[in-house]
Amino acid sequence: MSDVLYVNGRFTTTDERVLGVEDRGFQFGDAVYEVFKFLGKRPIFLAEHHRRMESGLRTIGIPSPWDEARFAAVVGELLERTAFDDGIVYVQVSRGEARRAHFYPDDMTPTVIAYSRSFAFPDAAAKERGIAVVTTPDLRWRQCQVKSVNLLPNAMAKKKAQRAGATEAIFVGDGVVREGASSSFFGVRGGRAVTHPLDDHILPGVVRDHVLRLARAANIGVDERPLREDELHEIDEAFITSTTMGVMPVVAIDGGAVGNGVRGAITTTLQRMLDEAEARRDSADRG
Ligand code: PLP
Repeated sequence: MSDVLYVNGRFTTTDERVLGVEDRGFQFGDAVYEVFKFLGKRPIFLAEHHRRMESGLRTIGIPSPWDEARFAAVVGELLERTAFDDGIVYVQVSRGEARRAHFYPDDMTPTVIAYSRSFAFPDAAAKERGIAVVTTPDLRWRQCQVKSVNLLPNAMAKKKAQRAGATEAIFVGDGVVREGASSSFFGVRGGRAVTHPLDDHILPGVVRDHVLRLARAANIGVDERPLREDELHEIDEAFITSTTMGVMPVVAIDGGAVGNGVRGAITTTLQRMLDEAEARRDSADRG
């Protein structure tokens, strides 16, 4: 099924082949992307996704194609043209097209695409059941705060998880639990939610940030600190967060149960609070 596609200022569908073979996103992974969710045609946390995209573009020196207002306008039109109410939008900005060479010209025009797609978000039963994860060595580059399209280590890690009957792979580097292949990771220890601090080892997850704020509002202690791999045996609860999964309980790690192997109380509270926040508003900057 084709989806509505925005490309460089016009709308078409994903049936149209719109990218050139010399695009640096294709040739070099020279691009950043975003994925946000929409419910009832309302984008969720759009300002935060725009901010992260701008930050990534700035870090790798691609001029931003949109200020926040223009981005919101394009997204608004994309969703108006979309036939369904709930789903995700994938956005990608590459450095643009130039004859293949590692050195790139200074005056390139970015390639900008965005498409909407339906998505089966986890239902109540899936959110209660939770998921199993496996740990895997973090083989990624050292700029993981940039949401770059270089996802080969992530894709390989996810495949490893799938082969082990798990849903997510958790990257471990230097004995520290970093994040999931497409999610942020939280452990709960002694009643406190622990997650990796923001640095170049992890993506600043939009949902991670919201969950930290929700936890503080609910007087749940939070520690943004490196969680050591050996602490995984001592945590009472674990969960991952992401745009598509929300707060998802982790009930098994590398085949061993987390806590008593069912969704924990703090996880349940934060899951409910996030669902309410998503239903209520689309941005930390609003109401
Ligand atoms: N970490 C990585 C590596 C990701 O790819 C993602 C999402 O795709 C996340 C964390 C979660 O980010 P967000 O909460 O903004 O969806």
